[in-house]
Amino acid sequence: MIQKLVIATHNLKKAGEMHTILSARFPEMEIVTLADYEGAPEPEETGTTYNENSRIKAESAFDFTGEWCVADDAGLEIDALDGAPGLYSKRFGGEDLPFPEKMAMILEKLRGAETRAARFRCNVALIGPGYPCQVFEATCEGEISDHRSGAGGFGYDPIFFLPEQKCTMADLTAEQKHQISHRGKVLSMVGEEIARLR
Ligand code: IMP
Repeated sequence: MIQKLVIATHNLKKAGEMHTILSARFPEMEIVTLADYEGAPEPEETGTTYNENSRIKAESAFDFTGEWCVADDAGLEIDALDGAPGLYSKRFGGEDLPFPEKMAMILEKLRGAETRAARFRCNVALIGPGYPCQVFEATCEGEISDHRSGAGGFGYDPIFFLPEQKCTMADLTAEQKHQISHRGKVLSMVGEEIARLR
């Protein structure tokens, strides 16, 4: 029976999204983040896959808290850039480069590209007492738009165009985003697993 769950991320926007999605599904569960644990380590993402990085973060948080933990690792994959920025989405153009500039770099690189197909990929690792780390994965397909639009979401959302919705991820409300996003989909799988364990 899982009564308490730690969201193992230091990224406040991501933690906020994960908190909203999981607390909607498990209203009676206590859901906290690493910000509630003073001195919680921020492990280096040294993995070469999303799977490894999500495990590194979940295992580190579990070692520190002893509680059930979830950690995500995500990225934007652009076909015309051979899958870049991918695993290095956070560090694209330098970790300190603001997102408007990261997005401007991408738009510049894609000028005249034959395809603008892209996807967000998200892996979420779940670990708990007596439960070995398990990783779940989901994607959200879209295209890179030719300009930024919208003020919702975070990161690359303003240039991620959704052909079905005819708008960018940042044009959606939070609720709409979570219904179709990589993070919403993978957390729905994690939710199934948590429900099974309860
Ligand atoms: P992570 O913290 O290593 O998982 O880095 C993920 C990076 O991918 C974030 O810093 C964002 O740049 C990007 N990213 C992940 N999920 C999203 C999303 O839902 N919208 C926009 N960008 C995202």
